[in-house]
Amino acid sequence: MASKAGHVIKCRAAVAWEAGKPLVIEEVEVAPPQAMEVRLKILFTSLCHTDVYFWEAKGQTPVFPRIFGHEAGGIVESIGEGVTDLAPGDHVLPVFTGECKECEHCKSEESNMCSLLRINTERGVMINDGESRFSINGKPVYHFLGTSTFSEYTVVHSGCVAKINPEAPLDKVCVLSCGISTGLGATLNVAKPPKGSTVAVFGLGAVGLAAAEGARIAGASRIIGVDVNPKRFDEAKKFGVNEFVNPKDYDRPVQEVLAEMTGGGVDRSIECTGNISAMISAFECVHDGWGVAVLVGVPNKDAVFQTHPLKLLNERNLKGTFFGNYKPRSDLPSVVEKYMNKELELEKFITHEVPFSEINKAFDYMLQGEGLRCIIRMDA
Ligand code: NAD
Ligand code: ZN
Repeated sequence: MASKAGHVIKCRAAVAWEAGKPLVIEEVEVAPPQAMEVRLKILFTSLCHTDVYFWEAKGQTPVFPRIFGHEAGGIVESIGEGVTDLAPGDHVLPVFTGECKECEHCKSEESNMCSLLRINTERGVMINDGESRFSINGKPVYHFLGTSTFSEYTVVHSGCVAKINPEAPLDKVCVLSCGISTGLGATLNVAKPPKGSTVAVFGLGAVGLAAAEGARIAGASRIIGVDVNPKRFDEAKKFGVNEFVNPKDYDRPVQEVLAEMTGGGVDRSIECTGNISAMISAFECVHDGWGVAVLVGVPNKDAVFQTHPLKLLNERNLKGTFFGNYKPRSDLPSVVEKYMNKELELEKFITHEVPFSEINKAFDYMLQGEGLRCIIRMDA
């Protein structure tokens, strides 16, 4: 194909015209990338809960028409002015949060909360000029999380793109661009369980199972899964979760059950539910003296975390993390390498696959709570 660099590309995109209505495959026009932007050809994308949540638009400002999608793998098609570290042909993972490499967060070794490119769920335009790069018959179609990967081509800020090993299969590593890295990093970068320790994982969805995968990699000897949905327990066995607790089976707080099972508390706990009482239990179930609890779930906006301060004074630690503390551009390439050298398994997260033309099926699977990740092939 002749180069389209600098020109509009017409391609297929799955457009959400209204909240909660099936997406419609439309021909869209994708403008060339502006300064510090890149245009990507998306090859594989997958569906994450955040897409569904904003598509349903319950409780947030609705931004429509919009192109959703933020977990994906693709190839750089063309680059805008000022982009020096990416070139056409590079294999990349777009990420919903960025790394400008210049702000105080990017310069801090401890933070991944870039001030310029931090996640913004309400913005539907590019930061360069406040406009959308997508249109249909001259009318704008809005972006989502700066990624909009439910399109054959998309424009993304170059700071939100991780360049990865070109040998990595994009149909597998695309799941690292959101949920799996979040859970994995929560364990490996934040909870840091010592070898032989006991880890509790609250919530056995894709994020929690990725946290369990992190515990397996770290060499935890006991991984206890806590979920109110016992259907999740079967799948979780593939992730090295070897004990299960359903809080609904007990008439006392689950933290007491866990303390009894472990002689005083678990060494580490990772909360991946978004439920406030699970967050409190996840903190209170860690061992005094050294236990570390890490909150990952996104709570409802009125939630209040309540615990007795003595629980902290007794040397329990409470932390929270965003995107598993990974800096997208600096750290994701090495997570991909963990998969390439077989330290990390991704296949077991991928339970479904659909052609792009049937993208609405991926929504159905997620709404029915079926499986973990559904890969959407853009060429079909
Ligand atoms: P999911 O819905 O697939 O899984 C959540 C699980 O938690 C379900 O199996 C559910 O049954 C279980 N659960 C709910 N309430 C519970 C309770 N009280 N006790 C025990 N288990 C309970 O979701 P997911 O895609 O795995 O995401 C998990 C959470 O992580 C969500 O809140 C999501 O918004 C959040 N998240 C956070 C980040 C971040 O950067 N911090 C990034 C991505 C996702
Ligand atoms: Zn920054």
